[in-house]
Amino acid sequence: MDVVALGTSGSYAKYGEACSGYLFRSGTTNVLVDIGNGVLANLFRYLDPHELDAIVVTHLHADHVADLFPLGLYLRWNPRPGKDLLEVHAPEGSCALLESFQPWAGPGELSRVFRFVDLPAPFTAGPMSFRFVPTRHLIPTFALVCQEGDRRIGFSADTSWDEGLPAAFEGCDALLCEATYQGPKGIDRVHLSACEAGRMAARAKVPRLVLTHLWPESDPGTTMAEAAGEFAGTLERISAHGRIVV
Ligand SMILES: [Zn+2]
Ligand SMILES: [Zn+2]
Repeated sequence: MDVVALGTSGSYAKYGEACSGYLFRSGTTNVLVDIGNGVLANLFRYLDPHELDAIVVTHLHADHVADLFPLGLYLRWNPRPGKDLLEVHAPEGSCALLESFQPWAGPGELSRVFRFVDLPAPFTAGPMSFRFVPTRHLIPTFALVCQEGDRRIGFSADTSWDEGLPAAFEGCDALLCEATYQGPKGIDRVHLSACEAGRMAARAKVPRLVLTHLWPESDPGTTMAEAAGEFAGTLERISAHGRIVV
């Protein structure tokens, strides 16, 4: 399986960038994890959204969910007869909360094209299975591990340091981890620093760490150096259209 990054900016995106979105693929199965601002346009480079098997929204911060609204419009006004509603795995209450952002459309607007399923229930799409663990963030948020056969990729979503979280990623071949801040510590209940992302990978004993969700003003070289101070394995930084193959 592989993961194509469709957007990796933390919190907001600068010119030519997009916020969080990752396309998990295996064969003809496609699962989009997060759909932040700018992700939908990049998704069209790879597939028609009707080809998605499911969407995961790790949490309702705009940089992870904003493009769900225009995707809803695309699906509604370019329907494919006979297609089931597209499953959106998201924290409990997401549908009503998101619909309240556009009250003029009325309740049920998103339910016309999406079927919401509450996280953290695990699910399977084709050969890939997804399981979830809560993170330490400002609002309910879920990290995930995607597994196909004996291959696993972990994704931290947004989180601050949590002593229990590294164990969730043990056995992963690669960990896609947010590294928003620099310096020794991130901000509790907000985000990790790059040092903490490195420590997360070291504690989880994963061979490969892929940094994402950098603060757009941060110097990436410094972020990489700080993570490398805590993690001795293969270290990369991913940006839009980058791929992780396991
Ligand atoms: Zn974020
Ligand atoms: Zn967030």
